[in-house]
Amino acid sequence: MSRLTGAGEQRRAEVIDEHGDTVPLPVTPPAGDSQEPIDHRQPLYVTRAGTGSRPPFTPIIKKVALGLAVCLVIGGGYAGLRRIADAPADPKAPGAHPQATSATPDQAQDGVRRAVAGEAVLQKMTDAVENDNRTEFLDTIDPKASAFRTSARTIFSNLSTLPLGTFQLRYVSDDTGALTPNRTAELGGTQSWLAQVEVSWQLSGYDVKPARETLPVTFVTRDGTTYAASFSERFAAGQRRPIWALGPVDVAKGKHSLVVSLDSEAEAKSYVAVADKAVESVSKVWGKNWRQKVIIYLPAKQDQMEGILGAAPNTYTQIAAVTMAELDTPAVGAPVRIVANPKLFEELGKQGRRIVLTHETTHVASTATASPVPLWLAEGFADYVAFTAVPVQDESAAKELFKAVRAGKVPTALPTPESFAASATELPQAYEAAWLACRLIAEREGQAKLVKFYLAVHTSKSTTGLADAFKSVLGMTEAEFVAEWQKYLERLAGA
Ligand SMILES: [Zn+2]
Repeated sequence: MSRLTGAGEQRRAEVIDEHGDTVPLPVTPPAGDSQEPIDHRQPLYVTRAGTGSRPPFTPIIKKVALGLAVCLVIGGGYAGLRRIADAPADPKAPGAHPQATSATPDQAQDGVRRAVAGEAVLQKMTDAVENDNRTEFLDTIDPKASAFRTSARTIFSNLSTLPLGTFQLRYVSDDTGALTPNRTAELGGTQSWLAQVEVSWQLSGYDVKPARETLPVTFVTRDGTTYAASFSERFAAGQRRPIWALGPVDVAKGKHSLVVSLDSEAEAKSYVAVADKAVESVSKVWGKNWRQKVIIYLPAKQDQMEGILGAAPNTYTQIAAVTMAELDTPAVGAPVRIVANPKLFEELGKQGRRIVLTHETTHVASTATASPVPLWLAEGFADYVAFTAVPVQDESAAKELFKAVRAGKVPTALPTPESFAASATELPQAYEAAWLACRLIAEREGQAKLVKFYLAVHTSKSTTGLADAFKSVLGMTEAEFVAEWQKYLERLAGA
Protein backbone atom coordinates (compact mmCIF):
# COMPACT_ATOMS: atom_id res chain seq x y z
CA MET A 1 0.00 0.00 0.00
CA SER A 2 1.59 3.22 -1.06
CA ARG A 3 1.43 6.07 1.33
CA LEU A 4 -1.44 7.80 -0.39
CA THR A 5 -3.74 4.84 -0.71
CA GLY A 6 -4.64 4.63 2.92
CA ALA A 7 -7.47 7.08 2.88
CA GLY A 8 -11.03 6.07 2.61
CA GLU A 9 -14.28 7.62 1.89
CA GLN A 10 -17.12 7.30 4.29
CA ARG A 11 -20.39 8.97 3.90
CA ARG A 12 -22.62 8.02 6.73
CA ALA A 13 -22.75 8.38 10.44
CA GLU A 14 -22.99 4.64 10.94
CA VAL A 15 -19.43 4.23 9.76
CA ILE A 16 -18.29 6.52 12.53
CA ASP A 17 -17.79 4.64 15.76
CA GLU A 18 -19.51 5.41 19.04
CA HIS A 19 -16.79 7.80 20.12
CA GLY A 20 -17.12 9.80 16.98
CA ASP A 21 -13.73 8.70 15.74
CA THR A 22 -13.26 9.44 12.12
CA VAL A 23 -11.25 7.76 9.43
CA PRO A 24 -7.99 6.32 10.74
CA LEU A 25 -5.22 7.13 8.34
CA PRO A 26 -1.61 6.28 7.89
CA VAL A 27 1.27 8.31 9.18
CA THR A 28 2.51 11.60 7.85
CA PRO A 29 5.04 11.34 5.03
CA PRO A 30 8.58 12.28 5.91
CA ALA A 31 9.43 15.96 5.79
CA GLY A 32 10.73 17.20 2.47
CA ASP A 33 8.94 14.47 0.52
CA SER A 34 7.09 16.91 -1.62
CA GLN A 35 5.19 16.32 -4.80
CA GLU A 36 5.74 18.07 -8.05
CA PRO A 37 3.00 19.96 -9.78
CA ILE A 38 0.57 18.14 -11.99
CA ASP A 39 1.62 17.11 -15.48
CA HIS A 40 -1.11 18.36 -17.74
CA ARG A 41 -0.51 15.86 -20.52
CA GLN A 42 -1.12 13.09 -18.07
CA PRO A 43 -3.12 15.03 -15.57
CA LEU A 44 -3.67 12.26 -13.07
CA TYR A 45 -0.07 11.37 -12.61
CA VAL A 46 2.96 13.14 -11.38
CA THR A 47 6.56 12.19 -11.64
CA ARG A 48 8.47 12.70 -8.51
CA ALA A 49 12.03 13.59 -9.19
CA GLY A 50 14.66 13.29 -6.56
CA THR A 51 12.84 10.94 -4.22
CA GLY A 52 15.22 8.16 -5.19
CA SER A 53 13.60 5.28 -3.45
CA ARG A 54 10.23 5.66 -5.13
CA PRO A 55 9.34 4.59 -8.65
CA PRO A 56 8.44 7.27 -11.15
CA PHE A 57 4.81 7.83 -12.09
CA THR A 58 3.51 7.19 -8.63
CA PRO A 59 -0.15 7.96 -9.09
CA ILE A 60 -0.31 10.56 -6.38
CA ILE A 61 -2.73 12.91 -7.97
CA LYS A 62 -5.17 10.25 -8.92
CA LYS A 63 -5.26 8.93 -5.43
CA VAL A 64 -5.55 12.39 -4.06
CA ALA A 65 -8.24 13.23 -6.55
CA LEU A 66 -10.17 10.05 -6.13
CA GLY A 67 -9.18 7.92 -3.23
CA LEU A 68 -8.58 10.79 -0.92
CA ALA A 69 -11.62 12.81 -1.74
CA VAL A 70 -13.17 11.88 1.52
CA CYS A 71 -16.60 12.87 2.62
CA LEU A 72 -18.03 11.92 5.90
CA VAL A 73 -20.47 12.96 8.50
CA ILE A 74 -18.95 13.52 11.86
CA GLY A 75 -20.94 11.84 14.59
CA GLY A 76 -21.42 13.21 18.09
CA GLY A 77 -17.98 13.32 19.61
CA TYR A 78 -18.72 12.40 23.18
CA ALA A 79 -21.57 11.76 25.55
CA GLY A 80 -22.25 15.45 26.05
CA LEU A 81 -22.71 15.95 22.34
CA ARG A 82 -25.11 13.04 22.17
CA ARG A 83 -27.16 14.61 24.89
CA ILE A 84 -27.09 17.94 23.14
CA ALA A 85 -28.06 16.39 19.84
CA ASP A 86 -31.09 14.85 21.49
CA ALA A 87 -32.04 18.04 23.30
CA PRO A 88 -34.55 20.51 21.86
CA ALA A 89 -33.07 23.12 19.57
CA ASP A 90 -35.03 26.04 20.98
CA PRO A 91 -32.87 27.84 23.53
CA LYS A 92 -35.95 28.82 25.50
CA ALA A 93 -37.22 25.26 25.58
CA PRO A 94 -37.10 23.22 28.77
CA GLY A 95 -33.96 21.18 29.12
CA ALA A 96 -31.61 24.11 28.71
CA HIS A 97 -30.81 23.90 32.41
CA PRO A 98 -28.55 21.22 33.77
CA GLN A 99 -30.35 18.30 35.28
CA ALA A 100 -29.23 17.78 38.82
CA THR A 101 -29.96 14.09 39.06
CA SER A 102 -27.63 12.88 41.76
CA ALA A 103 -26.70 16.26 43.24
CA THR A 104 -27.71 17.44 46.70
CA PRO A 105 -30.36 20.19 46.85
CA ASP A 106 -27.61 22.76 47.57
CA GLN A 107 -25.49 21.60 44.66
CA ALA A 108 -28.54 21.64 42.43
CA GLN A 109 -29.29 25.20 43.49
CA ASP A 110 -25.71 26.23 42.76
CA GLY A 111 -25.97 24.56 39.38
CA VAL A 112 -29.11 26.49 38.55
CA ARG A 113 -27.51 29.75 39.71
CA ARG A 114 -24.50 29.10 37.47
CA ALA A 115 -26.75 28.27 34.54
CA VAL A 116 -28.76 31.47 35.02
CA ALA A 117 -25.57 33.58 35.25
CA GLY A 118 -24.02 31.82 32.25
CA GLU A 119 -27.16 32.13 30.18
CA ALA A 120 -27.32 35.84 30.87
CA VAL A 121 -23.77 36.25 29.50
CA LEU A 122 -24.63 34.21 26.42
CA GLN A 123 -27.79 36.22 25.82
CA LYS A 124 -25.79 39.47 25.95
CA MET A 125 -23.32 38.01 23.46
CA THR A 126 -26.07 36.91 21.12
CA ASP A 127 -27.73 40.34 21.31
CA ALA A 128 -24.40 42.04 20.63
CA VAL A 129 -23.85 39.88 17.53
CA GLU A 130 -27.38 40.55 16.35
CA ASN A 131 -27.00 44.30 16.88
CA ASP A 132 -23.47 44.28 15.48
CA ASN A 133 -22.33 45.97 18.69
CA ARG A 134 -18.67 45.22 19.31
CA THR A 135 -18.48 47.10 22.62
CA GLU A 136 -21.40 45.15 24.06
CA PHE A 137 -19.82 41.91 22.90
CA LEU A 138 -16.47 42.73 24.50
CA ASP A 139 -18.26 43.74 27.71
CA THR A 140 -19.13 40.06 28.19
CA ILE A 141 -15.46 39.02 28.09
CA ASP A 142 -13.42 38.74 31.27
CA PRO A 143 -11.31 41.93 31.51
CA LYS A 144 -8.47 39.86 32.96
CA ALA A 145 -8.42 37.27 30.14
CA SER A 146 -6.21 39.29 27.81
CA ALA A 147 -5.50 36.50 25.30
CA PHE A 148 -9.15 35.59 25.09
CA ARG A 149 -10.09 39.25 24.62
CA THR A 150 -7.91 39.23 21.50
CA SER A 151 -9.64 36.07 20.22
CA ALA A 152 -13.02 37.56 21.10
CA ARG A 153 -12.27 40.58 18.90
CA THR A 154 -11.44 38.21 16.04
CA ILE A 155 -14.57 36.14 16.68
CA PHE A 156 -16.76 39.22 16.69
CA SER A 157 -15.18 40.51 13.52
CA ASN A 158 -15.61 37.06 11.88
CA LEU A 159 -19.26 36.93 12.85
CA SER A 160 -19.72 40.38 11.28
CA THR A 161 -17.98 39.22 8.10
CA LEU A 162 -20.01 36.03 7.62
CA PRO A 163 -23.50 36.35 6.11
CA LEU A 164 -25.15 35.22 9.35
CA GLY A 165 -28.86 34.55 9.18
CA THR A 166 -29.24 33.35 12.75
CA PHE A 167 -26.83 33.03 15.67
CA GLN A 168 -27.71 31.44 19.00
CA LEU A 169 -25.86 30.31 22.09
CA ARG A 170 -27.50 27.88 24.47
CA TYR A 171 -26.24 26.90 27.88
CA VAL A 172 -26.36 23.11 28.00
CA SER A 173 -24.53 21.77 31.05
CA ASP A 174 -21.76 22.60 33.45
CA ASP A 175 -18.98 20.66 35.06
CA THR A 176 -17.67 22.27 38.21
CA GLY A 177 -14.82 19.79 38.47
CA ALA A 178 -13.45 20.45 34.99
CA LEU A 179 -11.12 23.29 35.96
CA THR A 180 -7.97 22.38 37.84
CA PRO A 181 -7.27 24.08 41.19
CA ASN A 182 -4.41 25.96 39.52
CA ARG A 183 -6.63 27.22 36.77
CA THR A 184 -9.32 28.21 39.28
CA ALA A 185 -6.72 30.15 41.27
CA GLU A 186 -5.49 31.80 38.08
CA LEU A 187 -9.00 32.85 37.11
CA GLY A 188 -9.70 34.22 40.59
CA GLY A 189 -13.07 35.83 41.23
CA THR A 190 -15.74 34.44 43.52
CA GLN A 191 -16.42 31.43 41.30
CA SER A 192 -15.40 29.96 37.97
CA TRP A 193 -16.61 26.97 36.02
CA LEU A 194 -16.67 25.31 32.64
CA ALA A 195 -19.91 24.87 30.73
CA GLN A 196 -20.84 23.25 27.45
CA VAL A 197 -22.61 25.72 25.20
CA GLU A 198 -24.41 24.86 22.02
CA VAL A 199 -23.82 27.33 19.24
CA SER A 200 -26.11 27.31 16.24
CA TRP A 201 -25.61 29.57 13.28
CA GLN A 202 -27.05 29.76 9.82
CA LEU A 203 -25.43 31.23 6.73
CA SER A 204 -28.03 33.35 5.01
CA GLY A 205 -28.70 32.31 1.43
CA TYR A 206 -26.89 28.99 1.85
CA ASP A 207 -28.13 26.99 4.84
CA VAL A 208 -31.66 25.65 5.17
CA LYS A 209 -30.90 24.49 8.69
CA PRO A 210 -28.43 25.98 11.14
CA ALA A 211 -25.01 24.48 11.70
CA ARG A 212 -24.60 23.32 15.26
CA GLU A 213 -21.55 22.79 17.42
CA THR A 214 -20.78 22.60 21.12
CA LEU A 215 -18.18 24.86 22.66
CA PRO A 216 -16.64 24.60 26.12
CA VAL A 217 -17.06 28.06 27.64
CA THR A 218 -15.24 29.09 30.82
CA PHE A 219 -17.15 31.50 33.04
CA VAL A 220 -15.82 33.57 35.91
CA THR A 221 -17.69 35.77 38.36
CA ARG A 222 -15.82 38.70 39.82
CA ASP A 223 -17.22 41.70 41.69
CA GLY A 224 -20.72 40.36 41.16
CA THR A 225 -20.42 40.22 37.35
CA THR A 226 -20.10 37.00 35.35
CA TYR A 227 -17.90 36.97 32.24
CA ALA A 228 -16.78 34.52 29.60
CA ALA A 229 -13.07 33.77 30.03
CA SER A 230 -12.42 31.21 27.28
CA PHE A 231 -14.05 29.42 24.36
CA SER A 232 -11.47 26.71 24.04
CA GLU A 233 -10.67 25.16 27.38
CA ARG A 234 -10.62 21.37 27.66
CA PHE A 235 -11.89 20.44 24.22
CA ALA A 236 -13.04 16.83 24.25
CA ALA A 237 -11.87 14.33 21.62
CA GLY A 238 -14.10 14.63 18.59
CA GLN A 239 -15.48 18.03 19.58
CA ARG A 240 -15.63 20.24 16.50
CA ARG A 241 -14.78 23.92 16.44
CA PRO A 242 -16.61 26.50 14.36
CA ILE A 243 -14.38 27.99 11.66
CA TRP A 244 -14.97 31.51 13.01
CA ALA A 245 -13.34 30.58 16.32
CA LEU A 246 -10.08 29.42 14.70
CA GLY A 247 -8.60 32.68 13.42
CA PRO A 248 -9.47 35.67 11.24
CA VAL A 249 -11.63 34.62 8.29
CA ASP A 250 -12.00 36.13 4.85
CA VAL A 251 -15.11 35.48 2.85
CA ALA A 252 -15.57 35.50 -0.90
CA LYS A 253 -18.91 35.04 -2.59
CA GLY A 254 -19.45 33.61 -6.03
CA LYS A 255 -22.57 33.03 -8.04
CA HIS A 256 -22.99 29.57 -6.49
CA SER A 257 -20.41 29.48 -3.77
CA LEU A 258 -19.28 30.90 -0.51
CA VAL A 259 -15.63 30.43 0.29
CA VAL A 260 -14.55 30.97 3.88
CA SER A 261 -10.79 31.17 4.20
CA LEU A 262 -8.55 31.16 7.24
CA ASP A 263 -5.69 31.95 4.90
CA SER A 264 -6.27 35.18 3.00
CA GLU A 265 -8.80 37.10 1.00
CA ALA A 266 -6.85 36.37 -2.18
CA GLU A 267 -7.03 32.66 -1.39
CA ALA A 268 -10.80 32.86 -0.81
CA LYS A 269 -11.30 34.75 -4.07
CA SER A 270 -9.19 32.33 -6.09
CA TYR A 271 -11.44 29.41 -5.13
CA VAL A 272 -14.71 31.09 -6.01
CA ALA A 273 -14.34 30.53 -9.75
CA VAL A 274 -13.38 26.85 -9.27
CA ALA A 275 -16.31 26.28 -6.92
CA ASP A 276 -18.77 28.06 -9.22
CA LYS A 277 -17.53 25.96 -12.13
CA ALA A 278 -17.93 22.78 -10.06
CA VAL A 279 -21.56 23.68 -9.31
CA GLU A 280 -22.25 24.34 -12.98
CA SER A 281 -20.59 21.06 -14.00
CA VAL A 282 -22.67 19.14 -11.48
CA SER A 283 -25.91 20.84 -12.58
CA LYS A 284 -25.18 19.90 -16.19
CA VAL A 285 -25.42 16.23 -15.23
CA TRP A 286 -27.60 16.20 -12.12
CA GLY A 287 -29.96 18.93 -13.28
CA LYS A 288 -30.85 22.14 -11.50
CA ASN A 289 -33.19 20.63 -8.97
CA TRP A 290 -30.93 21.34 -6.01
CA ARG A 291 -29.86 24.49 -4.20
CA GLN A 292 -26.83 24.93 -6.49
CA LYS A 293 -24.80 26.38 -3.65
CA VAL A 294 -21.66 25.12 -2.02
CA ILE A 295 -19.72 26.32 0.96
CA ILE A 296 -15.99 25.70 0.92
CA TYR A 297 -13.84 26.04 4.03
CA LEU A 298 -10.17 26.74 3.44
CA PRO A 299 -8.13 26.20 6.58
CA ALA A 300 -4.63 27.69 6.47
CA LYS A 301 -3.10 24.98 8.62
CA GLN A 302 -3.60 21.30 9.21
CA ASP A 303 -4.63 21.79 12.85
CA GLN A 304 -7.38 24.17 11.78
CA MET A 305 -8.76 21.50 9.48
CA GLU A 306 -8.60 19.04 12.36
CA GLY A 307 -10.40 21.54 14.58
CA ILE A 308 -13.21 21.99 12.06
CA LEU A 309 -13.59 18.22 11.68
CA GLY A 310 -13.06 17.37 15.35
CA ALA A 311 -10.24 15.06 14.32
CA ALA A 312 -7.17 13.88 16.19
CA PRO A 313 -3.84 15.48 15.18
CA ASN A 314 -2.45 14.29 11.82
CA THR A 315 -5.58 12.33 10.96
CA TYR A 316 -6.05 14.18 7.69
CA THR A 317 -2.53 14.70 6.42
CA GLN A 318 -3.35 12.56 3.36
CA ILE A 319 -6.85 13.81 2.66
CA ALA A 320 -7.48 16.34 -0.08
CA ALA A 321 -10.97 17.38 0.91
CA VAL A 322 -13.75 16.30 3.21
CA THR A 323 -17.44 16.85 2.73
CA MET A 324 -19.17 17.08 6.08
CA ALA A 325 -22.52 17.94 7.54
CA GLU A 326 -21.96 20.58 10.20
CA LEU A 327 -24.36 19.01 12.62
CA ASP A 328 -24.08 16.42 15.39
CA THR A 329 -26.59 14.07 13.79
CA PRO A 330 -26.98 13.38 10.07
CA ALA A 331 -30.14 14.74 8.50
CA VAL A 332 -31.52 15.76 5.14
CA GLY A 333 -31.12 19.51 4.77
CA ALA A 334 -28.14 19.56 7.14
CA PRO A 335 -25.65 22.34 6.38
CA VAL A 336 -22.92 20.71 4.31
CA ARG A 337 -19.41 22.08 3.87
CA ILE A 338 -16.48 20.98 1.76
CA VAL A 339 -13.35 21.32 3.86
CA ALA A 340 -10.10 21.51 1.90
CA ASN A 341 -6.78 20.26 3.16
CA PRO A 342 -4.57 23.34 2.80
CA LYS A 343 -1.34 21.51 1.93
CA LEU A 344 -2.69 18.84 -0.40
CA PHE A 345 -5.05 21.21 -2.16
CA GLU A 346 -2.15 23.43 -3.01
CA GLU A 347 -0.22 20.46 -4.38
CA LEU A 348 -3.13 19.21 -6.47
CA GLY A 349 -2.79 21.94 -9.06
CA LYS A 350 -5.61 23.68 -10.85
CA GLN A 351 -7.03 20.69 -12.69
CA GLY A 352 -6.81 18.37 -9.71
CA ARG A 353 -8.63 20.93 -7.56
CA ARG A 354 -11.41 21.11 -10.13
CA ILE A 355 -11.74 17.34 -10.17
CA VAL A 356 -11.87 17.10 -6.37
CA LEU A 357 -14.30 20.00 -5.98
CA THR A 358 -16.58 18.65 -8.72
CA HIS A 359 -16.52 15.21 -7.11
CA GLU A 360 -17.36 16.65 -3.68
CA THR A 361 -19.98 19.02 -5.08
CA THR A 362 -21.71 16.01 -6.66
CA HIS A 363 -22.05 14.58 -3.15
CA VAL A 364 -23.49 17.90 -1.97
CA ALA A 365 -26.03 18.04 -4.83
CA SER A 366 -27.09 14.43 -4.40
CA THR A 367 -27.24 14.77 -0.58
CA ALA A 368 -24.90 11.83 -0.27
CA THR A 369 -24.40 12.48 3.44
CA ALA A 370 -27.98 11.24 3.99
CA SER A 371 -28.67 8.76 1.20
CA PRO A 372 -29.24 5.00 0.96
CA VAL A 373 -27.28 4.61 -2.29
CA PRO A 374 -24.44 2.06 -2.12
CA LEU A 375 -20.94 3.52 -2.00
CA TRP A 376 -19.98 2.26 -5.46
CA LEU A 377 -22.85 4.25 -6.94
CA ALA A 378 -22.21 7.40 -4.89
CA GLU A 379 -18.48 7.37 -5.63
CA GLY A 380 -18.76 6.18 -9.19
CA PHE A 381 -21.34 8.82 -9.95
CA ALA A 382 -19.27 11.58 -8.30
CA ASP A 383 -16.27 10.55 -10.41
CA TYR A 384 -18.44 10.26 -13.52
CA VAL A 385 -19.50 13.89 -13.04
CA ALA A 386 -15.95 15.04 -12.22
CA PHE A 387 -14.42 13.29 -15.24
CA THR A 388 -17.19 14.48 -17.52
CA ALA A 389 -16.30 18.03 -16.50
CA VAL A 390 -12.55 17.48 -16.63
CA PRO A 391 -11.87 14.69 -19.14
CA VAL A 392 -8.91 12.50 -18.37
CA GLN A 393 -7.44 9.63 -20.39
CA ASP A 394 -8.82 6.26 -19.31
CA GLU A 395 -5.32 4.88 -19.18
CA SER A 396 -4.50 7.41 -16.47
CA ALA A 397 -7.80 7.49 -14.65
CA ALA A 398 -8.19 3.70 -14.44
CA LYS A 399 -4.55 2.69 -14.29
CA GLU A 400 -4.71 0.36 -11.29
CA LEU A 401 -7.87 -1.35 -12.47
CA PHE A 402 -6.56 -1.86 -16.01
CA LYS A 403 -3.40 -3.36 -14.57
CA ALA A 404 -5.49 -5.88 -12.62
CA VAL A 405 -7.73 -6.67 -15.60
CA ARG A 406 -4.70 -7.23 -17.83
CA ALA A 407 -3.36 -9.62 -15.23
CA GLY A 408 -6.59 -11.59 -15.50
CA LYS A 409 -8.10 -10.18 -12.32
CA VAL A 410 -11.40 -8.91 -13.66
CA PRO A 411 -13.62 -7.86 -10.75
CA THR A 412 -16.35 -10.40 -10.07
CA ALA A 413 -18.73 -7.95 -8.41
CA LEU A 414 -19.34 -4.22 -8.04
CA PRO A 415 -17.08 -2.75 -5.32
CA THR A 416 -18.20 -3.51 -1.79
CA PRO A 417 -18.53 -0.81 0.90
CA GLU A 418 -15.44 -2.29 2.56
CA SER A 419 -13.36 -1.66 -0.54
CA PHE A 420 -13.83 2.08 0.04
CA ALA A 421 -12.64 1.85 3.65
CA ALA A 422 -9.58 3.72 4.83
CA SER A 423 -7.50 0.60 5.16
CA ALA A 424 -8.61 -1.02 1.89
CA THR A 425 -5.54 -2.11 -0.07
CA GLU A 426 -7.28 -1.83 -3.42
CA LEU A 427 -8.88 1.53 -2.88
CA PRO A 428 -7.89 3.05 -6.26
CA GLN A 429 -9.36 0.05 -8.09
CA ALA A 430 -12.61 0.45 -6.15
CA TYR A 431 -12.97 4.08 -7.30
CA GLU A 432 -11.97 3.22 -10.85
CA ALA A 433 -14.34 0.25 -11.04
CA ALA A 434 -17.22 2.28 -9.62
CA TRP A 435 -16.55 5.13 -12.06
CA LEU A 436 -16.52 2.80 -15.07
CA ALA A 437 -19.71 1.07 -13.92
CA CYS A 438 -21.45 4.46 -13.94
CA ARG A 439 -19.88 5.41 -17.26
CA LEU A 440 -21.06 2.13 -18.80
CA ILE A 441 -24.64 2.93 -17.78
CA ALA A 442 -24.32 6.41 -19.32
CA GLU A 443 -22.78 5.04 -22.54
CA ARG A 444 -25.31 2.24 -22.86
CA GLU A 445 -28.47 4.12 -21.89
CA GLY A 446 -27.57 7.79 -21.98
CA GLN A 447 -26.57 10.13 -19.18
CA ALA A 448 -30.18 10.90 -18.26
CA LYS A 449 -30.74 7.20 -17.53
CA LEU A 450 -27.73 7.14 -15.23
CA VAL A 451 -29.20 10.04 -13.25
CA LYS A 452 -32.60 8.33 -13.25
CA PHE A 453 -31.00 5.12 -11.99
CA TYR A 454 -29.20 7.01 -9.21
CA LEU A 455 -32.38 8.82 -8.21
CA ALA A 456 -34.40 5.60 -8.20
CA VAL A 457 -32.00 4.08 -5.66
CA HIS A 458 -31.62 7.35 -3.75
CA THR A 459 -35.36 7.84 -3.24
CA SER A 460 -36.23 4.19 -2.65
CA LYS A 461 -37.53 3.30 0.78
CA SER A 462 -37.17 -0.40 0.07
CA THR A 463 -34.30 -2.68 1.03
CA THR A 464 -34.38 -3.96 -2.55
CA GLY A 465 -34.04 -0.43 -3.96
CA LEU A 466 -30.92 -1.23 -5.97
CA ALA A 467 -32.28 -4.45 -7.49
CA ASP A 468 -35.56 -2.69 -8.27
CA ALA A 469 -33.72 0.15 -10.03
CA PHE A 470 -31.68 -2.31 -12.12
CA LYS A 471 -34.95 -3.88 -13.25
CA SER A 472 -37.17 -0.84 -13.67
CA VAL A 473 -34.62 1.65 -15.07
CA LEU A 474 -32.09 -0.55 -16.86
CA GLY A 475 -34.27 -3.58 -17.59
CA MET A 476 -31.71 -6.08 -16.31
CA THR A 477 -30.56 -7.80 -13.15
CA GLU A 478 -27.42 -6.77 -11.29
CA ALA A 479 -25.78 -10.04 -12.38
CA GLU A 480 -26.55 -9.29 -16.03
CA PHE A 481 -25.12 -5.79 -15.59
CA VAL A 482 -21.96 -7.13 -13.93
CA ALA A 483 -21.40 -9.55 -16.84
CA GLU A 484 -21.67 -6.68 -19.30
CA TRP A 485 -19.44 -4.47 -17.16
CA GLN A 486 -16.75 -7.17 -17.02
CA LYS A 487 -16.69 -7.34 -20.83
CA TYR A 488 -16.56 -3.52 -20.96
CA LEU A 489 -13.55 -3.45 -18.62
CA GLU A 490 -11.75 -6.12 -20.66
CA ARG A 491 -12.39 -4.19 -23.85
CA LEU A 492 -11.17 -0.89 -22.36
CA ALA A 493 -8.09 -2.49 -20.86
CA GLY A 494 -7.39 -4.33 -24.13
CA ALA A 495 -7.17 -7.54 -22.18
ZN1 LIG B 1 -16.61 10.86 -2.74
